[in-house]
Amino acid sequence: MLYDNYKEVQNNIIKACEKAGRNPDEVTLIAVSKTKPLSDIEELISYGVKEFGENKPQEMKQKIEEVSTPVNFHLIGHLQTNKVKYVVGKAVLIHSVDSMHLAEAIEKESAKKDIITDILIEVNMAEEETKFGLSAKDTESLVREISSLPHIRIKGLMTIAPFVDDPEENRPVFRAMKELLLDIKSKNIDNVDMNILSMGMTNDYMVAVEEGSTMVRVGTAIFGARNYNI
Ligand SMILES: *Cc1c(COP(=O)(O)O)cnc(C)c1O
Repeated sequence: MLYDNYKEVQNNIIKACEKAGRNPDEVTLIAVSKTKPLSDIEELISYGVKEFGENKPQEMKQKIEEVSTPVNFHLIGHLQTNKVKYVVGKAVLIHSVDSMHLAEAIEKESAKKDIITDILIEVNMAEEETKFGLSAKDTESLVREISSLPHIRIKGLMTIAPFVDDPEENRPVFRAMKELLLDIKSKNIDNVDMNILSMGMTNDYMVAVEEGSTMVRVGTAIFGARNYNI
């Protein structure tokens, strides 16, 4: 089942790329394994999957320690400063940085470990009150502030689009994210790359790819529904 699901998502990404005239190599599929057992991750690894997403620092750390083959884990969920130590040096990319306070904690831990940590800035493009992330208008100034931290490299932007019935409703959100990315990229800020655009989940990844996503984070379509009560 996991194999068929994964292949179907991959094929849908290829179709979305064809529709938009994009090269599928530009899009990385992250299998969001949060709440799912290690055996599911191991099965996907046996099919060649190398990119996984987790939203809880300790769950991610534990899976990294237990997995039999080294693969890449992305921290995609909200990160509190007291959990930074579980993530720096472990996650290949932190998708959810939305404040200088958090960036400073990542800087400190990265300096201590003598590494450079790759991050994305989380943007709450749709300005939903329930969501983390900063507003589009505040993004460039935070990027500039964080760019001065020597042990952090900003690689791009991430957003969690609203939960909608029809994914077409999120097209303007994804389009605005791409515009924001290009706008900040055009400023050529030192120590900042703007090449990664992390957007699109089970409900809307095809629309996100059509609008320029370079990383989709897909859980349910690959692993099935999550049960948070176990
Ligand atoms: C859970 C989660 C996803 C995946 O969600 P699905 O709808 O199951 O594909 C993607 N991004 C973030 C930040 C998540 O927390």
